[in-house]
Amino acid sequence: MVKKTKIVLCALALFVASAMLPARPKSRDDAGIQWLETHFHLLDSVSKAIHAFAEPGYQEYKSSALLISVLEENGFRVEKGVAGIPTTFVATYGEGKPVIGILAEYDALPGLSQAAVPYRQPVVEDGYGHGCGHNLLGTGSLAAAIAISKWLEQGHPGTVKLFGCPAEEGGGAKNYMVRDGVFDGLDAAFIWHPDAKNRTNLNSGRDPEDFGNFAEVASEVSPNRPLGSGSDAGSVSFVAPTAKLYVASCTVGSGGHCWQQVAVGGTTIGTKAVVNVGKIYYLTALELFKKPELLKAAREEFLKARGKDFVYESLVGDRKPPLDYRRQ
Ligand SMILES: [Zn+2]
Repeated sequence: MVKKTKIVLCALALFVASAMLPARPKSRDDAGIQWLETHFHLLDSVSKAIHAFAEPGYQEYKSSALLISVLEENGFRVEKGVAGIPTTFVATYGEGKPVIGILAEYDALPGLSQAAVPYRQPVVEDGYGHGCGHNLLGTGSLAAAIAISKWLEQGHPGTVKLFGCPAEEGGGAKNYMVRDGVFDGLDAAFIWHPDAKNRTNLNSGRDPEDFGNFAEVASEVSPNRPLGSGSDAGSVSFVAPTAKLYVASCTVGSGGHCWQQVAVGGTTIGTKAVVNVGKIYYLTALELFKKPELLKAAREEFLKARGKDFVYESLVGDRKPPLDYRRQ
């Protein structure tokens, strides 16, 4: 009986002692997931608005302004019109290292105007449409950046930056942004693209089939093998370890740059991909923030891949961005 009382008293003493310790706020690692799951309608409306704006490269005034307004409402500091291009922006949240960058695109393609219906129906005859799903690309990257900010908001050191990159379709804005040092200082860069299936382009030897594995694989941020032959994201991968992800949001077998893609991208099927991208990059970023050894390994691999005497030489030389390439 005496022994039992002692045990109870000890337990009580421990309880009282712990209650007297200053309360330390518990980090909620699901803060970003919660935000994504409760903001489907916001993301859906942003994606559908950019889908309807369907603006040509370097003329994405409404699309970039919409993304900027949502970022500012969520506490991001936004620098507009970087690299001498009116529709670029860099939105920053948080302080200090590490710095994780996410790339957003939002330009549309000529001749692909299409309503969100399962048959060919242009909204504007010969007008522009999101045949490469860049309304999803821009909104998914926005979702990821805001989700990450909800984790940083709890007092964690680190920075997330969302880069607004116009004119991916033939205008090559990122080449000029890289040349002007816009991406300097990143510890890792993420880019994604709509696709018919979920995959990464990392040669990790694994073929992730579910999102849990995705976060794990994508966190092995790969260096710089230039990404995708047709994308100007390749130039970013020369200045920061860059990981590319593909997320299912297209019709299987229809190929890219077609009206079927525009149609799907204007529905909630596309918005579900947007939320999935947010979750994948949120979980990946948390891995990188919590395990500096991953970023260190990525940096080493990146430097090795670039080579000892690497000097970045811009392919665009000292040319000005072709801001009128889509003007008739
Ligand atoms: Zn594209």
